[in-house]
Amino acid sequence: MAEQKAMTDILSLFPGEIEELIVSIGEKRFRASQVFSWLYKGVKSFSDMSNIPKELIAKLSESAQIKSISIEEKFVSQIDGTVKYLYRLDDGEMIETVFMRYKHGNTICLSTQAGCKMGCDFCASTINGFRRNLLPSEMLLQIMCCERDLAEKVSNIVLMGIGEPLDNYDNVVRFLRLVNNEKGLNIGMRHISLSTCGIADKIDRLAQENLPITLSVSLHASDQKKREEIMPVARKWSLEQLLASCRQYIKKTGRRISFEYALISGVNDSGEEADRLGKLLSGMLCHVNLIPVNPVKEKSFKKSEKSSIEVFTRTIEKYRISVTVRRRLGSDINASCGQLRANHSS
Ligand code: SAH
Repeated sequence: MAEQKAMTDILSLFPGEIEELIVSIGEKRFRASQVFSWLYKGVKSFSDMSNIPKELIAKLSESAQIKSISIEEKFVSQIDGTVKYLYRLDDGEMIETVFMRYKHGNTICLSTQAGCKMGCDFCASTINGFRRNLLPSEMLLQIMCCERDLAEKVSNIVLMGIGEPLDNYDNVVRFLRLVNNEKGLNIGMRHISLSTCGIADKIDRLAQENLPITLSVSLHASDQKKREEIMPVARKWSLEQLLASCRQYIKKTGRRISFEYALISGVNDSGEEADRLGKLLSGMLCHVNLIPVNPVKEKSFKKSEKSSIEVFTRTIEKYRISVTVRRRLGSDINASCGQLRANHSS
């Protein structure tokens, strides 16, 4: 049997690469920008590109494909209008995306992988293990499908859904550059946050990319032993190595890092741990985001008491570190990522 040629995932290409593709099949260069803008109008097939000659459509259909995504389930919060999608990808994998309305603009929380291999103790995304990396096109489609469904524009992106963005490094960086393209979705880098569980060597690499995004680092513990207990990634990249990479990142980019800390009752929320965290981060250009942990039905931990959250916050503030407690949107629709997908496949 003849070997099947892999189809090019055209929505993952930059305009210049589409140009190369079009020239390589013997067509005119200027068609590339027409094709690029059609892709961002959400066409499902090349034949929907009405100003493109039939011959080019036929050639493109032979060598390239337009990825798609479909809404498997949708939940709308009655409390704050947050919308959560369970999306199905072309190969049947399921991912989650959350749309939130904030005063500073509509924000979308994207998944970067189907499943996750990081194994954080408190996180639902890890429950059924890792399936595969998402393609840049599949990250773009999460936004395009949501914008079309709600007839609203997204202005901010957080890569805080299912998966570890820095474990899918090349696709994520390509996505960031694509989503920023002015002929594409044109979302400013300063409106994008990327959250990592702390893969230190990839933070070093990211610092070299010259992307003015906001880096969030999931810390969740202020000492190595506790961090190892709840986040397996800490065995590979120690807290010391991680913070060294963070300092280097701040130095290279001049940008403030946001540290995420999920407060879990009796696990990481004592005054002593807050004090240690304050000492650890003191003097750094950073912000601390405290997240009262969201319950996950498969796990038994509980979120911290209001009084412990209060003490924790005040203790960190003593070190002149800016700190906020994250407001939880979509609490009636299980908006924290990973839970829908886990429920769907169990
Ligand atoms: N893999 C990346 C991004 C995905 S998770 C990371 O680890 O940063 C986005 C944030 O939600 C992370 O800070 C993660 O630790 C946190 N998180 C995961 N499960 C949670 C839960 N049950 N309650 C509160 N925060 C949680």
